[in-house]
Amino acid sequence: MAENDGEMTSEEMGCKQPHDTHIFFDRSKFDDENYPTSTSIAQDIVETSIKDLLFKYTEDMRTLKKSLHVDYLMGVLKNVSCTFEQMDSSRSWIIYWVLHSLALLKSDITLSMKYAVINFFRSCQRKDGGFGGGPMQEPHLATTYAAVMALCTLGIQEAYEVINRKGLLNFLQKMKVHDGSFYIQEDGEIDVRGIYCAVSIYNLLKLKDYQLFENSIPWITRCQTYEGGFAGNPGMEAHGGYTFCSVASLYLLGGLNKCDVKSLKRWLLNRQTSFEGGFQGRTNKLVDSCYSFWQYACLVILKQSILDGNNSEQQNYPYNKLIDNKALQNYILICCQNVNGGFIDKPTKRPDAYHTCYSLSGLSLAQTDAESDTQEKPMDDKLPEIHPVYNILMERFVQADSYFSEL
Ligand SMILES: [Zn+2]
Repeated sequence: MAENDGEMTSEEMGCKQPHDTHIFFDRSKFDDENYPTSTSIAQDIVETSIKDLLFKYTEDMRTLKKSLHVDYLMGVLKNVSCTFEQMDSSRSWIIYWVLHSLALLKSDITLSMKYAVINFFRSCQRKDGGFGGGPMQEPHLATTYAAVMALCTLGIQEAYEVINRKGLLNFLQKMKVHDGSFYIQEDGEIDVRGIYCAVSIYNLLKLKDYQLFENSIPWITRCQTYEGGFAGNPGMEAHGGYTFCSVASLYLLGGLNKCDVKSLKRWLLNRQTSFEGGFQGRTNKLVDSCYSFWQYACLVILKQSILDGNNSEQQNYPYNKLIDNKALQNYILICCQNVNGGFIDKPTKRPDAYHTCYSLSGLSLAQTDAESDTQEKPMDDKLPEIHPVYNILMERFVQADSYFSEL
């Protein structure tokens, strides 16, 4: 046991769980080596804000407050349909975040609300097949991804029928750049999000153009940095969101073995913060609940690629032994549930639909992983399993996959 500088040990404070006895509270605090910087001061503030929560939590604090979150999400959904003055171009995204979160909480919206959502997306779709963030807006690959995943989350035929597959393929072809990358919108920026949105839409909707992703695998592998994670563009800094887009795209394109898997795995594992238990997005950045999905999903996809036999790393993949699953779940449940519903990035922040969606998605991945480990007893209130590449419920993926396969 490490020295504790006069503080009570976790045993003395009555903690029962092995995780709580983390020597980690004593020795996992960030060490600024007596040279405080703005980064180390910010880290200290976060650690101080969550220490008591993680040290003295009750089982009630660790319980998922489902009805509070459902109320919060329904409030957000009602607001989206009103006149929107902020985030007007992100309405497709907000609806996806809310619908997916509600699906994870096993809370269905009424049929009339489903039709209202379907009509909304119909008004967002342009003739060339792409979806804008709101009605009459320019099509964008990211909002098209959000619209397609939201419609598949609704899981009814009328929702699938909104999607103009022929027009969408035309839109994807227009966004393609000869070097394998994709514009995120016409004359817009290029980064790896474009490839991820394009390939996930292409695969889920069973579109056909065998040239569409020519050169995309080498373009993505050029985004891998010396750290092991991926940047949005070659030469930039490794980041959790771009790493997810890269890993998921390489998986769908069958190119994961073209990147340096060993350094990728090391980078991902080191993004779990030792004190807080959640993930950070970049080296030396603060913990943030949304990376519970972005980073953890990469590890799940890597594991899946080995099970599929498409990864040269044949030995048993030990990531679930190297991630502290319980610490991650504790961070999400104890530190990030807002008392009035919704999830927050970290204590002192306000809740939003984005962090609610990705906290719940990360929690689902962690619970599914823990359950597959025979030593963990099945959970009564486990969230449904998600597809780690598309981030929709696995059952909605199977349903959509079967519908579009038959067209
Ligand atoms: Zn975040």
